[in-house]
Amino acid sequence: MFFKETHGELLSTIEVIGASFAVYEYSPESNNFFMVSCNTLYEDILGFDKKDAINKPIDTLFPRYISEQMYSSFTECKSKESACESEFFVDYKASERWWRSIVSPIVDPHSPNIRIIQTCVEITEKKKLEKQLDVTMKRYEAVVQTAYDGIITIDENQDIKLINSSAQKIFGMSESEGIGMPLTELLPHKYRPNHNQYVSGFRNSKVDSRPMQTRASVRGLRRDGTEFSIEVTISKINVDDRVEMTAVIRDISERNKLMEELVTASQEDSLTNLYNRRQFTKILTKEISRAQRYLRPFSLFMLDIDYFKNINDKYGHDAGDEVLVRLSGILKHNTRESDSVCRWGGEEFLVLMPETHEETTYDLAEKLRQKIAEAPFEFNGEKTQITVSIGITTFRGGDIDVETTVSTVDELMYQAKHAGRNTIIQG
Ligand code: GH3
Ligand code: MG
Ligand code: MG
Repeated sequence: MFFKETHGELLSTIEVIGASFAVYEYSPESNNFFMVSCNTLYEDILGFDKKDAINKPIDTLFPRYISEQMYSSFTECKSKESACESEFFVDYKASERWWRSIVSPIVDPHSPNIRIIQTCVEITEKKKLEKQLDVTMKRYEAVVQTAYDGIITIDENQDIKLINSSAQKIFGMSESEGIGMPLTELLPHKYRPNHNQYVSGFRNSKVDSRPMQTRASVRGLRRDGTEFSIEVTISKINVDDRVEMTAVIRDISERNKLMEELVTASQEDSLTNLYNRRQFTKILTKEISRAQRYLRPFSLFMLDIDYFKNINDKYGHDAGDEVLVRLSGILKHNTRESDSVCRWGGEEFLVLMPETHEETTYDLAEKLRQKIAEAPFEFNGEKTQITVSIGITTFRGGDIDVETTVSTVDELMYQAKHAGRNTIIQG
């Protein structure tokens, strides 16, 4: 069959084939392929009535962009003497239609004639889907690669399958270093055992995505061995019955640092780095409640620089600032970790000493008075000294609050001023 039959002889047979079907014959004289026969379904590809196509060479049947594709596919089929598959498209009434063509050679052992049979199946829908998928993939790749956040995908074994450029930057590694690496290598050692448990817990859970704990508690490990804080959201998808997970990672070390700086700034005096009035008030309020509840003692003292105005007037404001900074250093270095030192106002300082009795408080105040008085200062080549007046008292609960305790030591400090300055008055 198909060796030598004419169109008329073939027609009834090929008309029942449920695909576009055509028979061509090779002519060595013209080195071209001529149509012997085709069925009605093949008219879809021809774009005209098949009776006009019989005995015509392919280059007159189709526009050049199709006939060239067919010619090369037929020639390959003829020379290999085996079936060849190819895909081609046809502009059909202003829309593009795609076909898969399978061509097979029919060699007549009794004649030099070579015929080619061609079956075509329309694959336009498949091509459209492929194109859509391609666009979706390109969109997805653009989002992943340009994302500000790090994106990492791991397979069932927790090995990295995808690491976008942000994640490469965050962890300090190239894509080739990252791909295939176990995810746990991006975590500090102490988090690794728990992490495996966490991942399997998430894999078996019903939710598809979840933020991972609170932000600062997740830590990452850079390639250079440094640790940093990250915020992570993970999600999972099923791929051929295996679970792949994707983590979106944000480096929050800068943000944490900034937050710490903001907290510090809201609690400290910017010149001396001592507690500011606001923060000290909070600390003192807490200490008062503690003392009231447990009937424990705490001491408070107010310290004011003597004739500080003179320093400013004589040596300038910067010299005055330097005195304040150095004096703050003396106060910090000579008090305990549990004590709180505050710059209450311009050149007034408060020190809170929990669990401290009268005697110890006085000794400490005396030590500070001396240290300050002995501290050498030199401005404009002139040596000078600073003294302070101090009011101290010890509280043991009772009906007190921030205002009454502070005004008590303030009053005592003024008494020290009246007593000739460079003096301590204990109340
Ligand atoms: P007294 O012995 O009575 O305490 O005298 P005094 O001069 O220390 O007291 P007064 O309250 O009259 O002066 C305090 C001065 O402290 C006035 C103000 O210009 C100065 N001062 C307040 N804050 C600052 C500051 O941040 N830097 C500098 N350089 N001076 C300050
Ligand atoms: Mg003063
Ligand atoms: Mg003052």
